[in-house]
Amino acid sequence: MTRVCGVIGQSLRHSISAVFQQAAFDALGLAVHYHAWELAPEALPGHLERLRRDDALGSNVTIPFKVAVLPYLAWRDPLVEQVGAANTLVNDQGRLAGYNTDVGGFLRALRGDGAYDPAGGEVLLLGAGGAARAVAVALLGAGVTRLWLANRRLPRAAELAAALAKDRVTVLAWHSSQFYAVLTTMPLVINATPAGMLGRDIDATPLPDARLAAGALVFDLVANPVDTRLMREARLAGARTLGGLPMLVYQGAESFQHWTGRPAPVAVMRQAAERAMAG
Ligand code: NAP
Repeated sequence: MTRVCGVIGQSLRHSISAVFQQAAFDALGLAVHYHAWELAPEALPGHLERLRRDDALGSNVTIPFKVAVLPYLAWRDPLVEQVGAANTLVNDQGRLAGYNTDVGGFLRALRGDGAYDPAGGEVLLLGAGGAARAVAVALLGAGVTRLWLANRRLPRAAELAAALAKDRVTVLAWHSSQFYAVLTTMPLVINATPAGMLGRDIDATPLPDARLAAGALVFDLVANPVDTRLMREARLAGARTLGGLPMLVYQGAESFQHWTGRPAPVAVMRQAAERAMAG
């Protein structure tokens, strides 16, 4: 029996998950077809029912369903509780278990591809949506001393800060003078907004005035395109940059392990992802 897996989201035209997940199943000789399931919000409950059938392994979950799936889960990993969102569902004999692999994928990319250990340092995080929540949980867990948090809509940043380790999180008003004062001293700046993303606002940047510390690392979670306006301008300002593609592959590799119980062929996945982006 060929089993099914996939990613559920609302707009998947620019998603490359299907390409690198299918490459992973094929590399291990597993009879699985990985689908891109574009759903309207009202179709979510019916689709989750479909995922409980025998032939379904589970799914990835992307915008805007990472929070919406929570009430349908029979079991949630502790990281899902901490982040408040799930990006991976596993069909465990008709019961759906939820995981968050964005946290692990983010840290693996930061430490490996970014060659950066966040422990003991400060960081400026842009955004307060699902990705920002995962990044904040990851960084606080990894031992940052201060997380500066800025979001276009201030109340959303305040809400996220209140849900996190309050003694180590400070909210900044978006593009305020204090925001820029902090920005110029930060060793690590993370974009967890879709500004600069293909299909949303590719010409946008969350830092129109990239006043960065020399040698800072700017990690843009946007995976498509591989080089964003933020990254180009950050390099001109003397910073190092890391794009979202490695994280995308690593979070997918961790999902793959949850579905199959087998180590993911990460090199195969990365190569397939890079080829898809080049195409
Ligand atoms: P989300 O839940 O919709 O949150 C979006 C956040 O970005 C909100 O805080 C929003 O601010 C802010 N925002 C939206 N447009 C903006 C703009 N033009 N300028 C400044 N801020 C803006 O989305 P998400 O799930 O957190 O995803 C955010 C980004 O991370 C996306 O690009 C996604 O592809 C990427 N991501 C990458 C990976 C990876 O593996 N590389 C994994 C997860 C997510 P307001 O509250 O003011 O609206």
